[in-house]
Amino acid sequence: MTNETWGQIREGLISRVGRNNYTTWIEPLRLSQLEGGVALFEVPTPFFGDWVQRNYGDHIRNQLLTSGALVERLEFLVGTDAPRSAATASSQRAAGTRPAVAAPAPQTRGRATQDDDLPGAPLDGRFTFDSFVVGKPNELAHAAARRVAEGGPVTFNPLFLYGGVGLGKTHLMHAIAHELREQKPDLKVLYLSAEQFMYRFIQALRDKQVMDFKSLFRSVDVLMVDDVQFIAGKDSTQEEFFHTFNALVDQNKQIIISADRAPGEIKDLEDRIKSRLQCGLVVDLHPTDYELRLGILQQKAEFYRGQYGGLAISQGVLEFLAHRITTNVRVLEGALTRLYAFASLVGREITLELAQDCLADILRASDRKLSIEEIQRKVAEHYNIRLSDMIGPKRLRTIARPRQVAMYLSKQLTSRSLPEIGRRFGGRDHTTIMHGVRKIEELAAIDSQLADDIQLLKRLLQG
Ligand code: ADP
Ligand code: MG
Repeated sequence: MTNETWGQIREGLISRVGRNNYTTWIEPLRLSQLEGGVALFEVPTPFFGDWVQRNYGDHIRNQLLTSGALVERLEFLVGTDAPRSAATASSQRAAGTRPAVAAPAPQTRGRATQDDDLPGAPLDGRFTFDSFVVGKPNELAHAAARRVAEGGPVTFNPLFLYGGVGLGKTHLMHAIAHELREQKPDLKVLYLSAEQFMYRFIQALRDKQVMDFKSLFRSVDVLMVDDVQFIAGKDSTQEEFFHTFNALVDQNKQIIISADRAPGEIKDLEDRIKSRLQCGLVVDLHPTDYELRLGILQQKAEFYRGQYGGLAISQGVLEFLAHRITTNVRVLEGALTRLYAFASLVGREITLELAQDCLADILRASDRKLSIEEIQRKVAEHYNIRLSDMIGPKRLRTIARPRQVAMYLSKQLTSRSLPEIGRRFGGRDHTTIMHGVRKIEELAAIDSQLADDIQLLKRLLQG
Protein backbone atom coordinates (compact mmCIF):
# COMPACT_ATOMS: atom_id res chain seq x y z
CA MET A 1 0.00 0.00 0.00
CA THR A 2 1.25 3.46 -0.85
CA ASN A 3 0.85 6.69 0.97
CA GLU A 4 -1.53 7.79 -1.80
CA THR A 5 -3.83 4.85 -1.15
CA TRP A 6 -3.72 5.65 2.52
CA GLY A 7 -4.71 9.19 1.64
CA GLN A 8 -7.96 7.84 0.25
CA ILE A 9 -8.59 5.27 2.92
CA ARG A 10 -8.12 7.70 5.76
CA GLU A 11 -11.03 9.83 4.62
CA GLY A 12 -13.33 7.19 6.00
CA LEU A 13 -12.11 8.28 9.42
CA ILE A 14 -13.62 11.75 9.17
CA SER A 15 -16.99 10.53 10.27
CA ARG A 16 -15.47 8.48 13.07
CA VAL A 17 -13.25 11.06 14.68
CA GLY A 18 -14.83 14.30 13.54
CA ARG A 19 -13.52 16.88 11.11
CA ASN A 20 -11.34 18.74 13.60
CA ASN A 21 -9.59 15.73 15.00
CA TYR A 22 -9.16 14.44 11.51
CA THR A 23 -7.38 17.57 10.37
CA THR A 24 -5.28 17.77 13.47
CA TRP A 25 -4.27 14.17 13.95
CA ILE A 26 -4.98 12.03 10.92
CA GLU A 27 -4.10 14.16 7.93
CA PRO A 28 -0.52 14.78 9.04
CA LEU A 29 0.18 11.03 9.24
CA ARG A 30 2.30 9.65 6.42
CA LEU A 31 2.21 5.95 5.81
CA SER A 32 5.78 4.99 5.14
CA GLN A 33 5.58 1.23 5.23
CA LEU A 34 3.15 -1.64 5.60
CA GLU A 35 4.81 -4.96 6.16
CA GLY A 36 4.44 -8.03 8.31
CA GLY A 37 1.22 -6.75 9.83
CA VAL A 38 2.84 -3.49 10.94
CA ALA A 39 1.75 -0.17 9.56
CA LEU A 40 4.52 2.35 10.04
CA PHE A 41 3.53 6.01 10.10
CA GLU A 42 5.69 9.06 10.08
CA VAL A 43 4.74 11.63 12.65
CA PRO A 44 6.14 15.05 13.51
CA THR A 45 6.87 14.30 17.16
CA PRO A 46 6.91 11.38 19.59
CA PHE A 47 4.02 12.92 21.48
CA PHE A 48 2.04 13.08 18.28
CA GLY A 49 2.54 9.39 17.62
CA ASP A 50 1.74 8.49 21.17
CA TRP A 51 -1.45 10.49 21.15
CA VAL A 52 -2.63 9.09 17.84
CA GLN A 53 -1.83 5.58 18.94
CA ARG A 54 -3.79 5.94 22.12
CA ASN A 55 -6.77 7.84 20.83
CA TYR A 56 -7.18 6.83 17.23
CA GLY A 57 -5.15 3.65 16.98
CA ASP A 58 -8.15 1.35 16.89
CA HIS A 59 -10.01 3.48 14.38
CA ILE A 60 -7.03 3.60 12.06
CA ARG A 61 -6.39 -0.09 12.31
CA ASN A 62 -10.04 -0.90 11.63
CA GLN A 63 -10.09 1.43 8.69
CA LEU A 64 -7.05 -0.27 7.20
CA LEU A 65 -8.52 -3.69 7.87
CA THR A 66 -11.76 -2.72 6.18
CA SER A 67 -9.83 -1.71 3.11
CA GLY A 68 -8.22 -5.11 3.00
CA ALA A 69 -4.82 -4.36 4.50
CA LEU A 70 -3.62 -6.91 7.02
CA VAL A 71 -2.64 -4.81 9.97
CA GLU A 72 -2.03 -6.00 13.46
CA ARG A 73 -0.18 -3.10 14.89
CA LEU A 74 0.62 0.53 14.26
CA GLU A 75 4.02 2.05 14.78
CA PHE A 76 5.06 5.64 14.68
CA LEU A 77 8.33 7.05 13.68
CA VAL A 78 9.42 10.62 13.98
CA GLY A 79 10.17 11.66 10.42
CA THR A 80 11.67 14.62 8.59
CA ASP A 81 9.08 15.30 5.98
CA ALA A 82 5.92 14.84 7.89
CA PRO A 83 4.02 18.12 7.49
CA ARG A 84 4.67 19.57 10.91
CA SER A 85 8.21 18.41 11.40
CA ALA A 86 9.79 21.79 10.73
CA ALA A 87 9.22 23.07 14.21
CA THR A 88 9.93 19.84 15.95
CA ALA A 89 12.00 16.76 16.22
CA SER A 90 15.15 15.55 14.65
CA SER A 91 14.95 12.82 12.08
CA GLN A 92 14.75 9.27 13.31
CA ARG A 93 14.35 7.43 10.12
CA ALA A 94 16.62 4.47 10.60
CA ALA A 95 14.40 1.42 10.53
CA GLY A 96 13.40 0.10 13.90
CA THR A 97 14.57 3.07 15.93
CA ARG A 98 12.26 4.15 18.62
CA PRO A 99 10.91 7.66 18.52
CA ALA A 100 13.03 10.32 20.11
CA VAL A 101 12.12 10.86 23.70
CA ALA A 102 13.21 14.40 24.26
CA ALA A 103 11.65 16.05 21.25
CA PRO A 104 9.68 19.23 21.98
CA ALA A 105 5.92 19.18 22.08
CA PRO A 106 4.09 19.87 18.82
CA GLN A 107 3.57 23.50 17.95
CA THR A 108 -0.12 23.47 17.51
CA ARG A 109 -2.30 26.50 17.59
CA GLY A 110 -3.68 28.13 20.70
CA ARG A 111 -6.74 26.27 21.76
CA ALA A 112 -5.68 22.82 20.71
CA THR A 113 -2.47 23.13 22.67
CA GLN A 114 -4.32 24.03 25.76
CA ASP A 115 -6.62 21.07 25.46
CA ASP A 116 -3.74 18.78 24.74
CA ASP A 117 -2.25 19.59 28.10
CA LEU A 118 -5.30 18.17 29.76
CA PRO A 119 -5.36 14.44 30.25
CA GLY A 120 -8.85 14.12 28.84
CA ALA A 121 -10.33 11.57 26.53
CA PRO A 122 -10.78 12.47 22.88
CA LEU A 123 -14.21 13.64 21.86
CA ASP A 124 -16.27 11.89 19.27
CA GLY A 125 -16.85 14.40 16.51
CA ARG A 126 -20.26 12.95 15.76
CA PHE A 127 -21.63 13.52 19.24
CA THR A 128 -22.93 17.06 18.91
CA PHE A 129 -26.16 18.76 19.85
CA ASP A 130 -27.02 18.91 16.17
CA SER A 131 -26.98 15.17 15.86
CA PHE A 132 -28.85 14.56 19.09
CA VAL A 133 -32.52 13.83 18.51
CA VAL A 134 -34.73 15.17 21.25
CA GLY A 135 -37.87 13.38 22.36
CA LYS A 136 -39.95 13.04 25.47
CA PRO A 137 -37.64 10.52 27.14
CA ASN A 138 -34.58 12.76 26.95
CA GLU A 139 -35.89 16.30 26.75
CA LEU A 140 -35.03 17.23 30.31
CA ALA A 141 -31.53 15.83 30.08
CA HIS A 142 -31.08 17.63 26.80
CA ALA A 143 -32.32 20.93 28.19
CA ALA A 144 -30.03 20.65 31.19
CA ALA A 145 -27.08 19.81 28.97
CA ARG A 146 -27.84 22.80 26.77
CA ARG A 147 -27.92 25.01 29.80
CA VAL A 148 -24.50 24.02 31.08
CA ALA A 149 -23.15 24.18 27.54
CA GLU A 150 -23.88 27.91 27.54
CA GLY A 151 -21.04 28.24 29.98
CA GLY A 152 -22.80 30.97 31.94
CA PRO A 153 -22.78 31.29 35.71
CA VAL A 154 -23.07 27.94 37.43
CA THR A 155 -26.65 27.43 38.51
CA PHE A 156 -26.64 23.80 39.47
CA ASN A 157 -23.68 21.74 40.44
CA PRO A 158 -23.14 19.02 39.55
CA LEU A 159 -25.31 18.15 36.62
CA PHE A 160 -25.87 14.46 37.13
CA LEU A 161 -27.11 12.54 34.08
CA TYR A 162 -28.12 8.97 34.47
CA GLY A 163 -29.80 6.27 32.45
CA GLY A 164 -29.35 2.84 30.95
CA VAL A 165 -26.80 1.78 28.40
CA GLY A 166 -26.89 3.47 25.02
CA LEU A 167 -29.41 6.18 25.85
CA GLY A 168 -27.13 9.08 25.01
CA LYS A 169 -25.26 10.06 28.17
CA THR A 170 -21.87 10.10 26.53
CA HIS A 171 -23.31 11.77 23.46
CA LEU A 172 -24.67 14.63 25.55
CA MET A 173 -21.45 15.08 27.48
CA HIS A 174 -19.40 15.27 24.31
CA ALA A 175 -21.93 17.70 22.88
CA ILE A 176 -21.44 19.94 25.90
CA ALA A 177 -17.69 19.80 25.47
CA HIS A 178 -17.87 20.58 21.74
CA GLU A 179 -20.16 23.49 22.34
CA LEU A 180 -18.04 24.95 25.12
CA ARG A 181 -14.85 24.59 23.13
CA GLU A 182 -16.47 26.42 20.30
CA GLN A 183 -18.27 29.15 22.21
CA LYS A 184 -15.94 29.59 25.14
CA PRO A 185 -12.49 28.59 23.91
CA ASP A 186 -10.87 30.10 26.98
CA LEU A 187 -12.48 27.67 29.36
CA LYS A 188 -10.52 24.61 30.27
CA VAL A 189 -12.91 21.77 29.62
CA LEU A 190 -11.93 18.30 30.69
CA TYR A 191 -13.89 15.21 29.74
CA LEU A 192 -12.89 11.73 30.80
CA SER A 193 -14.38 8.49 31.98
CA ALA A 194 -14.26 7.53 35.63
CA GLU A 195 -12.06 4.66 34.59
CA GLN A 196 -9.55 7.04 33.07
CA PHE A 197 -9.73 9.17 36.17
CA MET A 198 -8.77 6.16 38.21
CA TYR A 199 -6.05 5.17 35.80
CA ARG A 200 -4.50 8.65 35.91
CA PHE A 201 -4.71 8.71 39.64
CA ILE A 202 -3.00 5.37 40.06
CA GLN A 203 -0.36 6.44 37.60
CA ALA A 204 0.22 9.59 39.60
CA LEU A 205 0.53 7.57 42.79
CA ARG A 206 3.00 5.26 41.16
CA ASP A 207 5.08 8.05 39.69
CA LYS A 208 4.86 10.06 42.90
CA GLN A 209 3.15 12.90 41.09
CA VAL A 210 0.01 13.18 43.10
CA MET A 211 0.49 16.89 43.63
CA ASP A 212 0.62 17.43 39.87
CA PHE A 213 -2.45 15.32 39.47
CA LYS A 214 -4.31 17.34 42.07
CA SER A 215 -3.34 20.72 40.74
CA LEU A 216 -4.15 19.70 37.21
CA PHE A 217 -7.63 18.53 38.06
CA ARG A 218 -8.24 21.53 40.22
CA SER A 219 -7.27 23.89 37.45
CA VAL A 220 -10.08 23.05 35.05
CA ASP A 221 -13.19 25.15 34.55
CA VAL A 222 -15.49 22.36 33.54
CA LEU A 223 -14.98 18.78 34.60
CA MET A 224 -16.96 15.93 33.10
CA VAL A 225 -16.67 12.43 34.43
CA ASP A 226 -18.48 9.73 32.51
CA ASP A 227 -19.74 6.46 34.00
CA VAL A 228 -18.93 7.38 37.57
CA GLN A 229 -20.39 4.10 38.84
CA PHE A 230 -17.05 2.66 37.84
CA ILE A 231 -15.27 4.06 40.88
CA ALA A 232 -17.72 2.48 43.32
CA GLY A 233 -15.83 0.17 45.62
CA LYS A 234 -12.46 1.63 44.58
CA ASP A 235 -11.66 3.36 47.83
CA SER A 236 -8.69 5.58 47.25
CA THR A 237 -9.97 6.67 43.86
CA GLN A 238 -13.31 7.58 45.42
CA GLU A 239 -11.51 9.55 48.06
CA GLU A 240 -9.53 11.50 45.50
CA PHE A 241 -12.60 12.04 43.37
CA PHE A 242 -14.41 13.41 46.36
CA HIS A 243 -11.66 15.94 47.08
CA THR A 244 -11.39 16.99 43.46
CA PHE A 245 -15.14 17.37 43.33
CA ASN A 246 -15.29 19.51 46.44
CA ALA A 247 -12.39 21.68 45.41
CA LEU A 248 -14.04 22.47 42.09
CA VAL A 249 -17.46 23.09 43.57
CA ASP A 250 -15.88 25.46 46.07
CA GLN A 251 -14.39 27.40 43.19
CA ASN A 252 -17.75 27.44 41.49
CA LYS A 253 -16.57 25.35 38.56
CA GLN A 254 -19.10 23.32 36.65
CA ILE A 255 -19.07 19.57 37.10
CA ILE A 256 -21.00 17.14 34.96
CA ILE A 257 -21.29 13.52 35.92
CA SER A 258 -22.93 10.54 34.31
CA ALA A 259 -23.78 7.12 35.65
CA ASP A 260 -25.91 4.17 34.77
CA ARG A 261 -28.19 4.79 37.75
CA ALA A 262 -29.22 7.43 40.24
CA PRO A 263 -26.62 8.54 42.80
CA GLY A 264 -28.45 6.89 45.68
CA GLU A 265 -28.53 3.59 43.88
CA ILE A 266 -24.87 3.19 43.16
CA LYS A 267 -23.66 0.41 45.40
CA ASP A 268 -20.37 0.72 47.23
CA LEU A 269 -20.22 4.43 46.72
CA GLU A 270 -19.51 6.34 49.90
CA ASP A 271 -22.54 8.07 51.36
CA ARG A 272 -20.88 11.46 51.45
CA ILE A 273 -20.21 11.17 47.73
CA LYS A 274 -23.75 10.11 47.02
CA SER A 275 -25.13 13.08 48.86
CA ARG A 276 -22.70 15.41 47.13
CA LEU A 277 -23.76 14.08 43.76
CA GLN A 278 -27.37 14.72 44.61
CA CYS A 279 -26.76 18.35 45.46
CA GLY A 280 -27.13 19.71 41.97
CA LEU A 281 -29.54 18.72 39.27
CA VAL A 282 -30.19 15.02 38.81
CA VAL A 283 -31.87 14.12 35.53
CA ASP A 284 -32.45 10.78 33.95
CA LEU A 285 -32.63 9.63 30.38
CA HIS A 286 -35.65 7.41 30.07
CA PRO A 287 -35.74 4.39 27.82
CA THR A 288 -36.51 5.48 24.28
CA ASP A 289 -40.05 5.50 23.01
CA TYR A 290 -41.19 4.70 19.51
CA GLU A 291 -41.18 8.29 18.27
CA LEU A 292 -37.69 8.96 19.49
CA ARG A 293 -36.36 5.78 17.95
CA LEU A 294 -37.98 6.64 14.66
CA GLY A 295 -36.57 10.16 14.81
CA ILE A 296 -33.07 8.82 15.38
CA LEU A 297 -33.43 6.36 12.53
CA GLN A 298 -34.68 9.03 10.18
CA GLN A 299 -31.75 11.25 11.01
CA LYS A 300 -29.32 8.39 10.45
CA ALA A 301 -30.98 7.41 7.20
CA GLU A 302 -30.64 10.99 6.06
CA PHE A 303 -26.94 10.78 6.75
CA TYR A 304 -26.64 7.52 4.87
CA ARG A 305 -28.46 8.95 1.91
CA GLY A 306 -25.48 11.23 1.57
CA GLN A 307 -22.97 8.45 2.09
CA TYR A 308 -24.44 5.79 -0.12
CA GLY A 309 -25.90 7.97 -2.81
CA GLY A 310 -29.10 6.76 -4.34
CA LEU A 311 -29.55 3.65 -2.22
CA ALA A 312 -33.30 3.43 -1.80
CA ILE A 313 -35.11 2.41 1.35
CA SER A 314 -38.68 1.17 1.20
CA GLN A 315 -41.37 2.81 3.15
CA GLY A 316 -42.05 1.19 6.47
CA VAL A 317 -38.56 -0.17 7.09
CA LEU A 318 -37.59 2.49 9.58
CA GLU A 319 -40.95 2.17 11.33
CA PHE A 320 -40.43 -1.57 11.52
CA LEU A 321 -37.00 -1.14 13.12
CA ALA A 322 -38.23 1.50 15.55
CA HIS A 323 -40.97 -0.83 16.58
CA ARG A 324 -38.88 -3.95 16.93
CA ILE A 325 -35.52 -2.81 18.27
CA THR A 326 -36.34 -1.34 21.62
CA THR A 327 -33.22 -2.12 23.60
CA ASN A 328 -30.91 0.81 23.10
CA VAL A 329 -29.87 3.36 20.55
CA ARG A 330 -26.50 1.83 19.95
CA VAL A 331 -28.11 -1.39 18.79
CA LEU A 332 -30.57 0.55 16.70
CA GLU A 333 -27.80 2.46 14.97
CA GLY A 334 -25.78 -0.69 14.49
CA ALA A 335 -28.73 -2.31 12.77
CA LEU A 336 -29.15 0.52 10.33
CA THR A 337 -25.45 0.68 9.61
CA ARG A 338 -25.36 -2.99 8.83
CA LEU A 339 -28.44 -2.73 6.69
CA TYR A 340 -26.95 0.01 4.52
CA ALA A 341 -23.60 -1.71 4.24
CA PHE A 342 -25.26 -4.95 3.22
CA ALA A 343 -27.66 -3.37 0.77
CA SER A 344 -24.92 -1.41 -0.92
CA LEU A 345 -22.78 -4.51 -1.15
CA VAL A 346 -25.43 -6.55 -2.89
CA GLY A 347 -26.77 -3.51 -4.72
CA ARG A 348 -30.35 -3.92 -3.61
CA GLU A 349 -33.00 -1.66 -2.32
CA ILE A 350 -33.56 -1.82 1.42
CA THR A 351 -36.85 -3.58 1.81
CA LEU A 352 -38.60 -5.01 4.80
CA GLU A 353 -37.61 -8.44 3.64
CA LEU A 354 -33.97 -7.53 3.32
CA ALA A 355 -34.10 -6.01 6.80
CA GLN A 356 -35.59 -9.14 8.30
CA ASP A 357 -32.96 -11.29 6.63
CA CYS A 358 -29.99 -9.16 7.33
CA LEU A 359 -30.95 -8.36 10.92
CA ALA A 360 -32.42 -11.66 12.02
CA ASP A 361 -30.03 -12.03 14.94
CA ILE A 362 -30.54 -8.48 16.22
CA LEU A 363 -34.30 -8.80 15.92
CA ARG A 364 -34.28 -12.04 17.83
CA ALA A 365 -32.00 -10.71 20.55
CA SER A 366 -34.19 -7.67 20.80
CA ASP A 367 -37.24 -9.83 21.31
CA ARG A 368 -35.50 -11.69 24.03
CA LYS A 369 -34.45 -8.48 25.66
CA LEU A 370 -37.91 -7.05 25.94
CA SER A 371 -38.97 -10.22 27.51
CA ILE A 372 -38.85 -11.88 30.75
CA GLU A 373 -36.12 -10.30 32.78
CA GLU A 374 -37.37 -6.81 32.11
CA ILE A 375 -40.91 -7.83 32.86
CA GLN A 376 -39.91 -9.45 36.11
CA ARG A 377 -37.97 -6.40 37.16
CA LYS A 378 -40.72 -3.94 36.38
CA VAL A 379 -43.36 -6.04 38.07
CA ALA A 380 -41.21 -6.58 41.13
CA GLU A 381 -40.59 -2.86 41.29
CA HIS A 382 -44.25 -2.08 40.93
CA TYR A 383 -45.34 -4.40 43.71
CA ASN A 384 -42.35 -3.61 45.81
CA ILE A 385 -41.06 -7.13 46.13
CA ARG A 386 -37.61 -8.43 45.47
CA LEU A 387 -36.59 -9.52 42.00
CA SER A 388 -35.33 -12.78 43.46
CA ASP A 389 -38.84 -13.55 44.70
CA MET A 390 -39.92 -13.76 41.09
CA ILE A 391 -37.97 -16.93 40.65
CA GLY A 392 -37.94 -18.04 44.28
CA PRO A 393 -40.28 -20.56 45.90
CA LYS A 394 -42.34 -18.35 48.23
CA ARG A 395 -46.07 -19.00 48.05
CA LEU A 396 -47.22 -16.04 50.08
CA ARG A 397 -49.97 -14.30 48.14
CA THR A 398 -48.24 -10.90 48.24
CA ILE A 399 -45.45 -12.51 46.31
CA ALA A 400 -47.21 -15.21 44.34
CA ARG A 401 -49.69 -12.79 42.79
CA PRO A 402 -47.12 -10.41 41.35
CA ARG A 403 -45.21 -13.41 40.13
CA GLN A 404 -48.30 -14.54 38.26
CA VAL A 405 -48.73 -11.08 36.82
CA ALA A 406 -45.19 -11.33 35.50
CA MET A 407 -45.97 -14.74 34.02
CA TYR A 408 -49.06 -13.36 32.38
CA LEU A 409 -47.20 -10.40 30.91
CA SER A 410 -44.39 -12.66 29.73
CA LYS A 411 -46.90 -14.72 27.85
CA GLN A 412 -48.64 -11.68 26.42
CA LEU A 413 -45.73 -9.49 25.52
CA THR A 414 -43.11 -11.94 24.32
CA SER A 415 -43.03 -14.74 21.82
CA ARG A 416 -41.64 -17.15 24.40
CA SER A 417 -43.27 -20.53 24.88
CA LEU A 418 -44.68 -21.65 28.23
CA PRO A 419 -41.77 -24.02 28.95
CA GLU A 420 -39.32 -21.24 28.14
CA ILE A 421 -41.13 -18.89 30.46
CA GLY A 422 -41.16 -21.60 33.10
CA ARG A 423 -37.40 -21.87 32.89
CA ARG A 424 -37.00 -18.14 33.52
CA PHE A 425 -39.23 -18.37 36.57
CA GLY A 426 -36.84 -20.55 38.48
CA GLY A 427 -37.43 -23.70 36.45
CA ARG A 428 -41.18 -23.96 36.98
CA ASP A 429 -43.26 -26.36 34.98
CA HIS A 430 -45.17 -25.04 31.98
CA THR A 431 -48.46 -26.04 33.62
CA THR A 432 -47.64 -23.73 36.51
CA ILE A 433 -47.16 -20.90 34.06
CA MET A 434 -50.42 -21.73 32.30
CA HIS A 435 -52.21 -21.77 35.62
CA GLY A 436 -50.74 -18.39 36.52
CA VAL A 437 -51.73 -16.86 33.21
CA ARG A 438 -55.33 -18.10 33.52
CA LYS A 439 -55.56 -16.96 37.09
CA ILE A 440 -54.63 -13.42 36.16
CA GLU A 441 -57.01 -13.40 33.21
CA GLU A 442 -59.86 -14.41 35.49
CA LEU A 443 -58.97 -11.97 38.22
CA ALA A 444 -58.42 -9.04 35.90
CA ALA A 445 -61.97 -9.46 34.66
CA ILE A 446 -63.39 -8.82 38.10
CA ASP A 447 -60.68 -6.85 39.89
CA SER A 448 -60.34 -3.40 38.40
CA GLN A 449 -57.30 -2.55 40.51
CA LEU A 450 -55.48 -5.51 39.04
CA ALA A 451 -56.66 -4.63 35.55
CA ASP A 452 -55.28 -1.11 36.04
CA ASP A 453 -51.98 -2.47 37.30
CA ILE A 454 -51.67 -4.60 34.21
CA GLN A 455 -52.46 -1.73 31.89
CA LEU A 456 -49.88 0.44 33.57
CA LEU A 457 -47.23 -2.26 33.49
CA LYS A 458 -47.89 -2.92 29.84
CA ARG A 459 -47.46 0.71 29.05
CA LEU A 460 -44.25 0.93 31.00
CA LEU A 461 -42.84 -2.16 29.37
CA GLN A 462 -43.78 -1.34 25.84
CA GLY A 463 -42.51 2.22 26.08
P1 ADP B 1 -24.57 5.96 26.83
O1 ADP B 1 -23.34 6.78 27.11
O2 ADP B 1 -25.77 6.48 27.55
O3 ADP B 1 -24.38 4.50 27.04
P2 ADP B 1 -24.15 6.89 24.15
O4 ADP B 1 -24.15 8.36 24.39
O5 ADP B 1 -22.82 6.26 23.93
O6 ADP B 1 -24.93 6.13 25.30
O7 ADP B 1 -25.13 6.60 22.92
C1 ADP B 1 -25.08 5.39 22.18
C2 ADP B 1 -25.26 5.69 20.73
O8 ADP B 1 -26.56 6.11 20.49
C3 ADP B 1 -24.36 6.79 20.22
O9 ADP B 1 -23.92 6.49 18.93
C4 ADP B 1 -25.24 8.00 20.22
O10 ADP B 1 -24.87 8.93 19.23
C5 ADP B 1 -26.58 7.41 19.92
N1 ADP B 1 -27.69 8.16 20.52
C6 ADP B 1 -28.22 7.99 21.76
N2 ADP B 1 -29.23 8.83 21.97
C7 ADP B 1 -29.35 9.57 20.83
C8 ADP B 1 -30.23 10.63 20.43
N3 ADP B 1 -31.18 11.09 21.23
N4 ADP B 1 -30.07 11.13 19.18
C9 ADP B 1 -29.11 10.67 18.36
N5 ADP B 1 -28.26 9.67 18.68
C10 ADP B 1 -28.37 9.13 19.90
MG1 MG C 1 -21.50 6.17 27.78
